[in-house]
Amino acid sequence: MIVAVPDSQPRLPLRPELAGLEPYGAPQLDVPVRLNVNENPYPPSASVVADIASAVEAAAHGLNRYPDRDFAELRADLADYLHRESAVRLDPAQLWAANGSNEVMLHLLQAFGGPGRTALSFAPTYSMYPEYARDTSTEWVTGRRETDFSLDVDHATAMIAQVRPSVVLLASPNNPTGTALPLEVVTGVLAAAAQVPGGCVVVVDEAYAEFRRVGTPSALTLLADHPHLAVSRTMSKAFGMAGARLGYLAAGTPLVDALRVVRLPYHLSAVTQAVARAALGHATELMAQVEGLRRERDALVTWLQGRGLQVADSDANFVLFGVFDDRHSIWQGLLDRGVLIRETGPHGWLRVSVGTPEETAAFKAALVEVAGL
Ligand SMILES: *Cc1c(COP(=O)(O)O)cnc(C)c1O
Repeated sequence: MIVAVPDSQPRLPLRPELAGLEPYGAPQLDVPVRLNVNENPYPPSASVVADIASAVEAAAHGLNRYPDRDFAELRADLADYLHRESAVRLDPAQLWAANGSNEVMLHLLQAFGGPGRTALSFAPTYSMYPEYARDTSTEWVTGRRETDFSLDVDHATAMIAQVRPSVVLLASPNNPTGTALPLEVVTGVLAAAAQVPGGCVVVVDEAYAEFRRVGTPSALTLLADHPHLAVSRTMSKAFGMAGARLGYLAAGTPLVDALRVVRLPYHLSAVTQAVARAALGHATELMAQVEGLRRERDALVTWLQGRGLQVADSDANFVLFGVFDDRHSIWQGLLDRGVLIRETGPHGWLRVSVGTPEETAAFKAALVEVAGL
């Protein structure tokens, strides 16, 4: 029911660009098989839970005090983790963290975007990017990806020369397609960005990096030579810590120092810092689990192809597949059978997250029925 506001009531001075908008978010439905937001399907193990609980208890004793604003210990732990994961040794001062990589991205646009400036990306890509741009009054422009969802360096270079963005956002592996970018593409974009008169930061969003296939590199290896590069990561996906809200970024220290200016004071609670550090202590165990999810992903790609569907190559923990004349009816049919996936990506495609073997089996059985495969 819509209640008319009497003329005498004061109006809310909502920014015109926000008028009529709904908050972003995939439906959070309570169904047996949830494969719609690329979460890690495995809850933390008993030993991870126990370590988190005691770390939070220790932090609780000091909750009368503000947390370490610069979260020095967490940054050192993140640097150690990246060294193990990607064999790139970074100084803790090159690390930044916030409440999810969503907030890291917001910090980037607060520092390097803003009114009169433009952020550029290449579609199809992560649907949150235009929201960060909108919320920081940064203009949003998209170029295109090719039909195989790769990024053509010449197209990217031409767009950068034309648009002169102050921020370029590249997701690799990309969401919703799963496509990772070869390093030559990233260095090509970095070279084009270096020519933008006012300067241009290139952000490589590696939220799914841990799931990349063997031989797929990380842009972390490019940091040493490129002060205008930032590589963002998250504990939400491979680490299975989506509920903890911890995203982070690696870059040169001048870039990180700019982010320190725009963050809210004490943005990372003592509890969040404690939880993240306890989970990082279990990186080895969690990485073994990622290995299993990668195998499950590759098997799912093969199965979908075997059923005659088009499947995008995936370096992530999800698979984009299609092409359906009426993807909504497929999505709905799966949901009716208790399997929630995501209706996203180019027309006719659907995205499914890699779940447990049981969840994948439920998805396959439902899809065979619904799509008549
Ligand atoms: C899931 C995802 C993230 C992670 O967001 P968090 O705020 O860290 O949970 C970042 N980028 C992309 C492309 C994603 O799909």
